[in-house]
Amino acid sequence: MLSPERALQIVLDQAYLLEPVELRLLDSRGMTLAEEIVSDMDIPPFDNSAMDGFAIRSPDTLGASLHNPVRLKVLEEDLPAGHTTQKSLMPGYAFQIMTGAPIPAGADAVIPVEDVEMRNEEIWISRPYKTHTNIRDRGEEVWAGEVVLTQGKTIYPADIGLLASLGRSKVAVIRKAKVAVIATGDELIDIEENLQPGLIRDSNSYSLTAQIAEAGAIPQRVGIVADQRELVRQALERSLMECDIVLTSGGVSVGKYDLVKEVVEELGAELKFWKVSQKPGKPLAFWTYGQKLVFGLPGNPVAVMFCFERYVRPLILKMMGRGEIFRPTVKAALAHDLKIKTERTQFMRVIVGRKGEVLWASSTGAQGSGILRSMSLANGIATIPPQKEIWKQGELVEVMLIREIEERPERLPPA
Ligand code: AMP
Ligand code: MG
Repeated sequence: MLSPERALQIVLDQAYLLEPVELRLLDSRGMTLAEEIVSDMDIPPFDNSAMDGFAIRSPDTLGASLHNPVRLKVLEEDLPAGHTTQKSLMPGYAFQIMTGAPIPAGADAVIPVEDVEMRNEEIWISRPYKTHTNIRDRGEEVWAGEVVLTQGKTIYPADIGLLASLGRSKVAVIRKAKVAVIATGDELIDIEENLQPGLIRDSNSYSLTAQIAEAGAIPQRVGIVADQRELVRQALERSLMECDIVLTSGGVSVGKYDLVKEVVEELGAELKFWKVSQKPGKPLAFWTYGQKLVFGLPGNPVAVMFCFERYVRPLILKMMGRGEIFRPTVKAALAHDLKIKTERTQFMRVIVGRKGEVLWASSTGAQGSGILRSMSLANGIATIPPQKEIWKQGELVEVMLIREIEERPERLPPA
């Protein structure tokens, strides 16, 4: 059976970069920049004051001391941020100036207001100041012609601010992937319907939709489709037309009513793999249909979410041009002994906690692939390779972090 590593490689080999679109600045957050941003101006655009204080000529302060202060006459006109003056500063005078205001001609330093003594219309200065003190230079942050943001960069809030200061109201980014979600199963009802004997609520289309949104893509929740060839085919055809990636849940196992695989292939999709040597998520299927990519995810609620995390999320991020497509991984010590009863790689839902210098990973409890709570409690998924059966407390395992490391040392053994 295909190894999880090989399966991931096959999936990622099918990734292609989605096209750029132009978006309003604030809509670009979290997306991939599709152009190089070159500044057409200096930032700051003019020399300005870094402090509220007094703009002076530094030679005027030569020899100033506590016992022999220099006295400068404060001009009547002051300089708030946003204002310029035509006057230039003459020796023996000072302009009162606020943070961000342009430095007037003649001045070459700013003395903070708290460092002078005000006496009538004068300031008394008790030490010398060097030229340039408390002045922010034109272009000290960005020069005209400089590359400020490189193509392919993920846009974070600071980048949004930079783009705003450059006057960019629109920006070219790689568009978001559109991902359809089809939940198959005769036993499924939607949230607001009444439960009848033998039926369960569809949770997969909800958890998947949330996962797609969390990855920064656009989910299209098609909803529940009964296990009937014609209905499954219609839902697939529509989704393939409207979306880049189609996810089905359920119906890819070997049960009598597991129709998804047959129907996808009748449509002419090319099977890339079916079944991966992993637990949960063994009956995972993956097809290409022209440029479109189709995943037949297993029906079990944990398996479906795990397969999304492990295979679909990196694919989506790669297609959206993201530099880092994988969750961070850490090495953590097992918080308890473990007995593995499978030849497949086991992906165990764990809680990772920090105790002293050591990261510990503790199982979230029953690991059945239908037990969604094991996923809800987890902040990590540990990879337990199939080579051996007995694992001892303290042995290191690799954990993919799906959320922050929580401070829950009470679940972990004493370090
Ligand atoms: P299947 O692969 O279709 O046989 O489904 C495997 C298991 O997952 C069965 O117990 C289903 O009832 C359950 N299941 C399938 N689809 C969903 C869903 N959308 N939400 C919750 N459970 C599901
Ligand atoms: Mg089913």
